[in-house]
Amino acid sequence: MERLKAEKRIEELRTMLEKYGHHYYVLDKPLVSDAEYDTLLQELLRLEEEHPEFFSEHSPSVRVGGKTLPFFEKVEHRIPMLSLGNAFSDSDLRDFDRRVKQLVGDDISYSCELKIDGLAVSLTYENGKFVRGATRGDGQVGEDITANLKTIPAIPLRLSEPVTIEVRGEAYMPKGSFEALNELKAQAGEEKFANPRNAAAGSLRQLNPKLAAKRNLSIFVYAIGHVEGREIESHSKGLTYLQELGFRVNQESKHCDNIEEVITYTEEWVEKRATLPYDIDGIVIKVDRLDQQKELGFTAKSPRWATAFKFPAEEVVTKLEDIELSI
Ligand code: NAD
Repeated sequence: MERLKAEKRIEELRTMLEKYGHHYYVLDKPLVSDAEYDTLLQELLRLEEEHPEFFSEHSPSVRVGGKTLPFFEKVEHRIPMLSLGNAFSDSDLRDFDRRVKQLVGDDISYSCELKIDGLAVSLTYENGKFVRGATRGDGQVGEDITANLKTIPAIPLRLSEPVTIEVRGEAYMPKGSFEALNELKAQAGEEKFANPRNAAAGSLRQLNPKLAAKRNLSIFVYAIGHVEGREIESHSKGLTYLQELGFRVNQESKHCDNIEEVITYTEEWVEKRATLPYDIDGIVIKVDRLDQQKELGFTAKSPRWATAFKFPAEEVVTKLEDIELSI
């Protein structure tokens, strides 16, 4: 594409993605489907790569999430909560594997996990006691939603060891709870939630813990952000430790010795995802060894040691513009 046309299109895409991102991350009221958002973002990434002269640090391609809501206390993340790069095909996964190996050599294995479609949260424990829970926000600063998170029965208030630790997980609404909630909303003549992700985010990003308690939310914890006084050598050993501490860890994750095993795992879940009692929107693939993760490091937006394989869209793009979501 010629330079001027590219510049104009980049600007258009940034404006659209900013608007969609604001509705999705800040208002929990998406205007377009994830597939539509992802297609526009891929186009922007491609144009920005072809035209590095138009780089902007404010572009949605390098920014994480959205702004925090003003009525919550702010929480600064000790370690940023980032986004993930995407893979949409087997060849994208093989490219990811190639990039990883170029940087840290061939001795690589992966941890593969379901990508739960909910709200990313950080949980902090001091001496084994739950003290603070926050949203991801813009990756650096999130919202303090401790009171709402305390209403989720699967979040332990006390761990099995007096450890000081910050963990990350995905709070979500099971499909059954989502359907029951929308049924109640329909009976009360209220507007329904568009999907379980927005229902979970809307339930946690409001100020009434009694309302959050009624929403039957749950959580899977999938990573350690920071832990004091303990060396952990791999992501999969970290998951085992999280389980020992009393966290709910998803049991479908798999250690894969090479990228072909990873591809087989993603193919299995394209078929099996509909049988799960919760929504997933992909598979997260992480380099297992933590020393290699450290060596690979991060870009401005995401770790180089992980990627998210996104499932092909299940439905045709749906316009959600007319759906007003209430909490
Ligand atoms: P991401 O796709 O980059 O993935 C990162 C998130 O994955 C983490 O923050 C975490 O919440 C989640 N996750 C779930 N299970 C995980 C696991 N096992 N390990 C690690 N992380 C796990 O998320 P993002 O940066 O929030 O957003 C990008 C996606 O959000 C887009 O690809 C798009 O599909 C969707 N989105 C949609 C709209 C819209 O208007 N429909 C707007 C913005 C973003």
